[in-house]
Amino acid sequence: MKSSLRIGSIAGIDISVHISLIAVLFLFSYALYVTPYPYGFSNLPYSQLIRISLSILASISLFISVLFHELSHSITGKRRGVEVKGIVLFIFGGVSMLDRIPEEPKKEIEIAFSGPLFSIAVGVVFYALYLLQVSILSEFSRVFAMYNFFLAFFNLIPAFPLDGGRILRGFLSKRIGFIKATKISAEIGKLIAFVMGLFGLFVNPWLILIAFFIYMGANEEEKLVMVENVLKRVKVIDIMSSSPITVSPDTSVKEVLQLMLKTKHLGYPVVDRDKIVGIVTLRDITNVDEDVPVGEVMRKDVITIAPLASAFDAFKIMNEKGVGRLPVVYEDRVVGIVSKTDLMRTLEILGIQESFKEVQKLAKTG
Ligand SMILES: [Zn+2]
Repeated sequence: MKSSLRIGSIAGIDISVHISLIAVLFLFSYALYVTPYPYGFSNLPYSQLIRISLSILASISLFISVLFHELSHSITGKRRGVEVKGIVLFIFGGVSMLDRIPEEPKKEIEIAFSGPLFSIAVGVVFYALYLLQVSILSEFSRVFAMYNFFLAFFNLIPAFPLDGGRILRGFLSKRIGFIKATKISAEIGKLIAFVMGLFGLFVNPWLILIAFFIYMGANEEEKLVMVENVLKRVKVIDIMSSSPITVSPDTSVKEVLQLMLKTKHLGYPVVDRDKIVGIVTLRDITNVDEDVPVGEVMRKDVITIAPLASAFDAFKIMNEKGVGRLPVVYEDRVVGIVSKTDLMRTLEILGIQESFKEVQKLAKTG
């Protein structure tokens, strides 16, 4: 993600911060400063400087606590064999980037529950500190405990993609399977988001923003699961364009440009004696002298895919590496090329069949 800064890694998990978070830290510090105790520090009998410091400290502590909430998800995931790419902290908290959604209900429930459990634990510890009644420490602890409890309970709302929605999906998938469970939890998530947004119109505009975030998240994850479900069943070899146009390292930039104009393709595998040695795209030859041979400007770190890989693997690689076309390579030889357009077409064709099947199934059972 471009709009986020990597700040380090814990337990082998990359941690990034979305730039919006800096604004959120300021806003939240301000909110704590103007809100009365026990939700903030405005009416406490301390000097202004101390109240400002308390607000900033609580705001930063909460940020760290959100980070550890997310780390709980990631570490629980890792322990259960789910690849974790990293954590991005952003405006509404954090997002753990699990490489894939665990389809085993038990794993999903445990991973989803670990975050709120951590927040509750932090809340309990700080509430205990509050009970010790050591003046300023006690007041800070109470406010901090409150927000950790809030974080836990908010995340437990069964609105997909919040943790609660994931727990719900876990329970549902035990009975009706992962795909249907995703659909139903996403629909419930959207419904809750809608009600929350409506409620927000009259109560608090922040709720509208949060509802919007839940709605979009539910929608996106539902789509992703459907895409995965459809593309997993298709092999690259069945959707690729076979006998693709290739160029050799001696082909000049001028010839490649002419080829692009003619074929409207923006990238070609570079092949030397039947073996793939690189890839050349429009970006590589922009502002390059026309007579330069392609071998000098091509990219040698070619990302390829095997013909028997699933179309979903191709989809994932394209998304991760930000490329639109992948040479399909079998024993170093280019046997085809698969593009985003091929994937979209497949989705369109199979996606339509899929909904058709669903409708037929419903008609039979209903
Ligand atoms: Zn969580």
